Amino acid sequence: MLSRHADPIAAIATAPGRGAVGIVRVSSAQDLAPLIEAVCGRALKPREATYLPFRDAAGTAIDQGLALYFPAPHSYTGEHVLELQAHGGAVVMQLLLARVIEAGLNVRLAEPGEFTQRAFLNGKLDLAQAEAVADLIDASTEAAARSASRSLGGALSREVGVLRDQLIQLRMLVEATLDFPEEEIDFLEKAHAFGRLDRLAAQLSGVQARTRQGALLRDGLKVVLAGQPNVGKSSLLNALAGAELAIVTPIPGTTRDKVSQTIQIEGVPLHITDTAGLRDETADEVERIGVSRSWDAIADADVVLFLHDLGRVGLPDYEAEDERICARLHSVDAGRIVQVFNKTDLGTPPAGELALSLKTGAGLETLRQRLLKTAGWQAVPEGLFIARERHVQALARTAEHLALARAIAEQRDAALDLLAEELRLAHDALGEITGAFSADELLGVIFSNFCIGK
Ligand code: GDP
Ligand code: ZN
Repeated sequence: MLSRHADPIAAIATAPGRGAVGIVRVSSAQDLAPLIEAVCGRALKPREATYLPFRDAAGTAIDQGLALYFPAPHSYTGEHVLELQAHGGAVVMQLLLARVIEAGLNVRLAEPGEFTQRAFLNGKLDLAQAEAVADLIDASTEAAARSASRSLGGALSREVGVLRDQLIQLRMLVEATLDFPEEEIDFLEKAHAFGRLDRLAAQLSGVQARTRQGALLRDGLKVVLAGQPNVGKSSLLNALAGAELAIVTPIPGTTRDKVSQTIQIEGVPLHITDTAGLRDETADEVERIGVSRSWDAIADADVVLFLHDLGRVGLPDYEAEDERICARLHSVDAGRIVQVFNKTDLGTPPAGELALSLKTGAGLETLRQRLLKTAGWQAVPEGLFIARERHVQALARTAEHLALARAIAEQRDAALDLLAEELRLAHDALGEITGAFSADELLGVIFSNFCIGK
């Protein structure tokens, strides 16, 4: 567990730049009354908005705005929290932040995610909920935002909690029997251990499936459009993007250049990269960098759509180039390669292959559904929560230990101490999701990825 940082912290909680309103937030385990007195010139009623001037050290007003005071423990962080809502200009915000820091309480600038980290350390949120705060802020589709909101409300934590409670019961039975070795023989029978283990495993696999969906909703799928010039890659990107009119924002880091775009299909974010031609023997240095980036994107992709032009299929030069691209695709460790025959209005696709015409729109819906299927997207389950790869991994380890426990239990002279150990490890793995058993290192990684002021 992290050491408890009790020192007062402050940050601008609103996004940088101009805005109608900007918020400076302070959290402190120590009494905030002296700070409030200094900046607001009076005491504040808990959880009530008070309109007043915010004063600098000389007593001059920096700005007028709303002050909100949340005494511990009824606040976001569980500590005393002060929020100052002023006009959202960069200079006003900086002045107000500086004022709060110099006002004499030894307030320091908050690190990214530090408010939420305190909320976690003070038991206001578990780790999965804290992660959902960041996932809600970073959500790239409406479905991801709604699911993050459900996780923040505890949807994932509750599913994990149900598994954990059953695991604890099972552990208690096994550990109790360990203390009475003479009864070990028929323990497994009496405790219905097999039935319990099997039920637990079945429930776990349901949670695993939903968690994988949740992680897909958060991270999306990396799709690369590959193929020779003029096969219709840009047209496909536009068609896919145009079909979804919902709000889509790229996840930071996925949009490397103008030809990458994040779109969504049924709420699943797809990060699509249009490789601008894949010929190797280009003379131009700039183009060569582009080609090399294209191959990097292909190596990093979950799915590669390899487009073919039915207007040119069969022409010797065209076929030779397709052969070269195909060989190279198989030589890099590309993601799943899906062949797509475009321009069905100009020629007949090979039987059984995915085909479309971007001119007429025929086949586009089939392609969209195929992409979702390739991603492992099932349907649009109601009440889905958001999740992270970390959660998927922790559940997989839980499942592994349960399977080992099952195998041990099946042996003729089942070693109960080994069984107990596997159940303990399963419990630990499960506990990592909500932060019951989490290394400091892991917590550091999770919270440092937050934005400042959250
Ligand atoms: P890219 O070089 O692979 O990105 O290909 P583009 O998307 O720029 O398309 C190349 C040309 O093919 C453009 O003139 C498109 O209008 C045309 N095109 C794209 N899809 C189709 C199609 O399904 N049928 C026909 N006839 N032309 C298409
Ligand atoms: Zn293009």
